[in-house]
Parts: sequence; structure tokens; C-alpha cells
Amino acid sequence: MSIAQNLENVKQQIPSNVKLIAVSKTKPTADIIEAYNCGQRVFGENRPQELKQKYEELPKDIEWHFIGHPQSKQVKYFAPFVSLIHAVDSLKLLTVINNEAKKHNRTINCLLQFHIAQEDTKFGLNITEAKQILESKEFTELSNVKICGVMGMATFTDNKNQIQSEFENLNQIFQQLKTTYFKNDDDFKELSMGMSGDYNIAIEQGSTMVRVGSSIFGARNYTK
Ligand SMILES: *Cc1c(COP(=O)(O)O)cnc(C)c1O
Repeated sequence: MSIAQNLENVKQQIPSNVKLIAVSKTKPTADIIEAYNCGQRVFGENRPQELKQKYEELPKDIEWHFIGHPQSKQVKYFAPFVSLIHAVDSLKLLTVINNEAKKHNRTINCLLQFHIAQEDTKFGLNITEAKQILESKEFTELSNVKICGVMGMATFTDNKNQIQSEFENLNQIFQQLKTTYFKNDDDFKELSMGMSGDYNIAIEQGSTMVRVGSSIFGARNYTK
């Protein structure tokens, strides 16, 4: 199947109110152009330098999302142009993003990443940690970042019930933060969940953004 056919197939399964982020990490620019020529304008990458290079080479009406975990010193590579950073899980990183955004006189949209899977990973907040960030004095002083919602990854498993309950959990976290901290903030509206293997379940559980890579571009030679 071609990228064009894959993309069409994925798009058919996604309602119009859910944004498709085509995850092009590790893939050559020619692949991105193929999807671009089918109308896709939103792409996701997880390596800062790779993202910068692709941004420079490709059409400027592409909306670039950063979906990985940058080191502090790497934020500068995408701060001038990134549309949304999906996986922010510390006040430290938010502060770095804020400072880089300030240099370019812009505000960078971010999602807070939550740890919803059973798998062990060092990434992702729990609700207590998120509250600590949102209630901190430091956070209220960050004028160049905007929290637009939450992001999470389900356990890599065939157990659909488990995936479903993890996404349901993330939706509840989203609702809880919305009522507690963002009640009158229309920008806090994104629930980024769902990848190639589970985006249908995520959409059923209220996802507003799915991040789909291999179902569009094929398997990656290396994953990271
Ligand atoms: C790689 C990646 C994806 C896409 O994964 P696929 O299974 O290829 O669709 C989505 N989200 C994040 C955070 C990723 O790193």
C-alpha cells in the first residue's frame, strides 16, 4: 500500500473533529511530501534536530508538532516554529520552553503528558504532580507557554479493555483539570491520545488528536 492509500484509509476512520497528526519521525522528506500532496498538513516528530531540518526543507504551511522528550538544550531547535509540544512532564521543561519562546516573542502551546499505562516508564505525570505544577508560583509566572490539554500513551497490549480504561482514565484527568484550573479557558481543550494500534479506541474515549505513524508511513527501521 502506498502512503497515499494508507493515509486515505486512516482518514476514513477519523471523524472531522479529531485532528490527525501524521508521525513522520525517522522517515525521509520524500515520504512527508507524498502525504503533503494528499492534503495532510500536520506532522509529528520526536527528535529536535531532525524536526528542524525537515522544517527548513519542507513547505512552510506545514504545522509541526513535537511529540517526544527534548533535553533542555534541544528546545531551541524547534522553539521558533513548533505548533504544539505534546509531552511536557516537568516544570523544568516548561520553564525552558517558556524562555526559548520568549526569545522569539511567541507563546508555545503545550500538553501535559500523563502516565496512564501499566508499563514502567520515566515519562508522564500523575495527577498530584500535575497539580503541584499548576498551583506553583513559578508556573503562574510563565507568560510564554500555554497549556492546551493533556496527552498520554496506553499500554502496548492486545487487551482492548485495558487500553480503553487507560484512555478513559486520561479523559477523566482532562475533565478534572478543566474544571479545577481551566474552567474559563477555551484553549484548554485537547486530549491527545491514540496511535496506529489504538486510535479507534482512543476516539471512542474522546480523543481530539491522534498521533499516527506506522499505519501511514509503514514500519520504522528504528523506534525511538
Ligand atoms: C512514534 C510515536 C507515535 C506514533 O506511533 P505509531 O505506532 O507508529 O503510530 C505516537 N506518539 C508518540 C509519542 C510517538 O513517539
